[in-house]
Amino acid sequence: MERLSNKAYKNEFVHNFKGDESGDLQPRQTPGVLYSRAAPTAVSNPRLLAWSEELAAELGIEKPNKEDVEILAGNRLAPSMQSYAACYGGHQFGHWAGQLGDGRAITLGEWQTEEGKSWELQLKGAGLTPYSRRADGRAVLRSSVREYMMSEAMHYLGVPTTRALSLVSTGDKVLRDMFYNGNPEFEPGAIVMRVAPSFIRFGNFEILAARKEYEHLRQLVDWTISRYYPHITGEDKLILWYREVIERTASMIVEWLRVGFVHGVMNTDNMSILGLTIDYGPYSFLDDYDPQFTPNTTDLPGRRYAFGQQAGIAYWNLGCLANAIAPIFESTDGLIAALKEYEKLISEKFFAMMAGKLGLDRVAQEDAALITQWEQTLILLKPDMTIFYQLLIDLPLELEGEEQVVNHFSESFYEDPDQPQRQALYSLMQKWVERVRANTSSREESRARMKKSNPRFILRNYLLHQAIEGLEEGDSSLFNKLEAAMKEPYSGKGDEFFAKRPEWATQKAGCSQLSCSS
Ligand code: AMP
Ligand code: MG
Repeated sequence: MERLSNKAYKNEFVHNFKGDESGDLQPRQTPGVLYSRAAPTAVSNPRLLAWSEELAAELGIEKPNKEDVEILAGNRLAPSMQSYAACYGGHQFGHWAGQLGDGRAITLGEWQTEEGKSWELQLKGAGLTPYSRRADGRAVLRSSVREYMMSEAMHYLGVPTTRALSLVSTGDKVLRDMFYNGNPEFEPGAIVMRVAPSFIRFGNFEILAARKEYEHLRQLVDWTISRYYPHITGEDKLILWYREVIERTASMIVEWLRVGFVHGVMNTDNMSILGLTIDYGPYSFLDDYDPQFTPNTTDLPGRRYAFGQQAGIAYWNLGCLANAIAPIFESTDGLIAALKEYEKLISEKFFAMMAGKLGLDRVAQEDAALITQWEQTLILLKPDMTIFYQLLIDLPLELEGEEQVVNHFSESFYEDPDQPQRQALYSLMQKWVERVRANTSSREESRARMKKSNPRFILRNYLLHQAIEGLEEGDSSLFNKLEAAMKEPYSGKGDEFFAKRPEWATQKAGCSQLSCSS
């Protein structure tokens, strides 16, 4: 175990790439470099609100003392840290947005574990960088709690994600117009330390292509492959790498669909090159099943980033990545061919994932019809997704009739089902029972599979909202309970929260609809 303040950090990104070494924090375009050196701006009164024991243990980080908390708050750097903000661009809501960059994230250094694994330590909300544009480089407590909690929750759900090590309140106020409606208010500020092997995004490649800095582009691709995809070597490594990025991205999206996660801002600057869920903003889990649901108010007219759009948007984003890296390929044929396979790839992954949720031992060709009907029936009934699947695990295989089936699922309905809905549900369950009976594995094995595939506890937005209100008033009891529950999402440990979203939360700001203001 080592201390944050004493560690000998690596700074490989800084050493390998050209950067702006001035340390100047003035907002500006930074052509010709991949990062700008930037030090965090000090805060007045840091207090450690949360610490991820398990992640710290995995990395071999000692529980923070006063000096370590100063690092987590950006008030101090360890002597070997060479902190920087990365330069990246991105397509936002379908349009090229030019240079974006780490506007409020600062990477402090790379923490190497005893086993030789390397983790980037990054502060989010640590003050201005050259990429802050017109914003303040800070983060409010509510958005920091949301990032800290959800990235850890996703980890425990088994979804590829960046992690969060700590949450610190700064003692400073931050001005935010939460709904962009001309009502700015001062809110408490906070900083999350997040952790990942790398925070490189599609946008890091896109900005180099847009600036025609092809030598830098090639270096970044080579570095990404040798460091994060070391198993890929040889003549074809470029295309093999792109194929694996596609593969990882598809896996991540299917995992989102499994647990009912909506990211909310799938811009290409929020797409990790490692296939990790990254940048937790106006995200949400589905309560009632609705593929059209987007939690992001900014996304409302088009619903580009709605739950059911995510697989298609990932494809679009992968297309942007292909465009960006094309200049270093001799021919674009391989890129086009790889992209063409995405649809087949993701649908195979989707069916395999659904087999887990439905307790099927394998997916045969014929199961496609069942899964399609499944989707249509859920859209028709709009049950609570999480509760519905939990109830499914316990549905007796001897169906007694429509009444019994509808009653069995009643806890998951937001509204009493009408006759067509009741019929659709019954007909679906008849088909499901028939299919489960055809499993070669036992009913118990099938149920065990379902329990592993279907979370019983999800961090619903209204719960987070209440926990944040508590923290803002100095009461961490709900936050602590949610933190315990999210660590065991497949057991009954969080069952005190096993309930539908309450009526009051349906329209309440911050509970189902959020903005990017954070
Ligand atoms: P996001 O929508 O959070 O992914 O952010 C898009 C871009 O805006 C990124 O370049 C962020 O670094 C930047 N950004 C968001 N919020 C702030 C802030 N409060 N201060 C500075 N930059 C920000
Ligand atoms: Mg972002």
